[in-house]
Amino acid sequence: TAIGVSRIGLAGLAVMGQNLALNIAEKGFPISVYNRTDVKVDETVERAKEEGDLPLTGYKNPKDFVLSIQKPRSIIILVKAGAPVDQTIQTLAQYMEPGDCIIDGGNEWYENTERRAKQVAEKGLLYLGMGVSGGEEGARNGPSMMPGGTEEAYHYIEDVVRKVAAQVDDGPCVTYVGRGGAGNFVKMVHNGIEYGDMQLISEAYDVLKSVGGLTNEELHETFAEWNDGELESFLIEITRDIFSVKDDKGEGFLVDKILDKTGMKGTGKWTVQQAAELSIAAPTIAASLDSRFLSGLKEERLEAARIFREAGVEDILAVKDLDKKQLVDDVRKALYASKICSYAQGMNLIRAKSIEQGWNLDLGELARIWKGGCIIRAKFLDRIKQAYDRNPELASLLIDPEFTKEMVERQSAWRRVVSLAIEVGVSTPGMTASLAYFDTYRRGRLPANLVQAQRDYFGAHTYERVDMPASYHTEWFKIA
Ligand code: NAP
Repeated sequence: TAIGVSRIGLAGLAVMGQNLALNIAEKGFPISVYNRTDVKVDETVERAKEEGDLPLTGYKNPKDFVLSIQKPRSIIILVKAGAPVDQTIQTLAQYMEPGDCIIDGGNEWYENTERRAKQVAEKGLLYLGMGVSGGEEGARNGPSMMPGGTEEAYHYIEDVVRKVAAQVDDGPCVTYVGRGGAGNFVKMVHNGIEYGDMQLISEAYDVLKSVGGLTNEELHETFAEWNDGELESFLIEITRDIFSVKDDKGEGFLVDKILDKTGMKGTGKWTVQQAAELSIAAPTIAASLDSRFLSGLKEERLEAARIFREAGVEDILAVKDLDKKQLVDDVRKALYASKICSYAQGMNLIRAKSIEQGWNLDLGELARIWKGGCIIRAKFLDRIKQAYDRNPELASLLIDPEFTKEMVERQSAWRRVVSLAIEVGVSTPGMTASLAYFDTYRRGRLPANLVQAQRDYFGAHTYERVDMPASYHTEWFKIA
């Protein structure tokens, strides 16, 4: 066995692990790889040969794998989140030595990372929880990486991850995020924002198709145009491409043959749960999650559609004299304005957690590392970075002068799209939630006075007054 020859190790060779390992090797860092099941080791070694004789060595025995790595060792784990990570740590840690470091690259719940960091610290091992985004392609050619944990451990892998990450105009898409589970938390919110973006895009599609009557060819062209403007992003780009793909098993386009049921793995749900825990309103992200839940009720929805059709409710009301060009333009603006609200929610959630945990997270820097490599990468993120550069204490992206201006410019179009959708019966939960968020946030006085009066009426919860200090209670039932 070769001892201490590899710069780094990677365990877990499914989609993410295999591609990230090849990326690391391609950047000139000799790497050892391991997987619980042998066949993936052979596969990865084979790919390393085919893709240019990359310096990658496969190991089927965990001891040989660990010993093949230079000390102090850095080992990235990329297995299914949860118990598989604990099992993999157990398998590897027995051969590791004090000063070595484990880096979990999966979509892990941040508290699991903090628990494991404490556990392995008893053996003198260091630990990082590093969110990796970009899917298969990102992992292979340059992902966005969000490492958190002991800062000392980050320096073990800094040279590697900076080379392996996606590169944008202001550096590699990786940074030391913060202590503890900060890296996993930030990746979780990234995914929540991703849910929001995907939902908003699907609503734009629905309005354009169901109300505007756009064909797949027209949708393809529309998204191609959008991708040349303010909406330029990975998700708009792949959506453009999706509309051009023909069904290889029948007539027409593939997108029309796909069952309307969205899957999920948990990060969106965690984001919404965390928002509730921290009393941060995240209605756009919550609407995206709810939409996935409702999409899962396919049979029930078909039955409801039948019941309401028989009761006289039309599927979608027809619109007279629709100006298609205007609709496309309005939907673009509604999508952009809705997206600003969604990002404001995500960033505020990160900040609230950072304050709670004392993580001291840099929101502008997080927006920067999302500019490339990850699923939400977009031109737009540069604007977010600039907003936080202008004012790191910015209470909300909505009140950054640039974003305020952009929202004002798009307000009428946004209202037209949401009103039209409501009128004809096409649901746009994400755009509607974003608009309600905007309208709630920008109003100096809300009907919360009435809710407070009710609370005081039935529960003697007291209320404050707008015109004098202190708390008051009124015996409403005696007066009313
Ligand atoms: P995955 O499907 O989540 O997991 C498969 C890998 O986990 C295989 O290597 C498998 O080994 C290993 N594994 C499962 N149970 C195990 C156990 N009990 N002990 C040891 N190993 C076990 O793989 P993935 O899609 O590449 O994702 C890896 C991580 O990255 C996950 O946390 C995922 O959420 C995250 N992630 C994925 C993507 C993506 O696009 N797929 C993007 C970003 C982040 P065997 O081969 O032996 O079964």
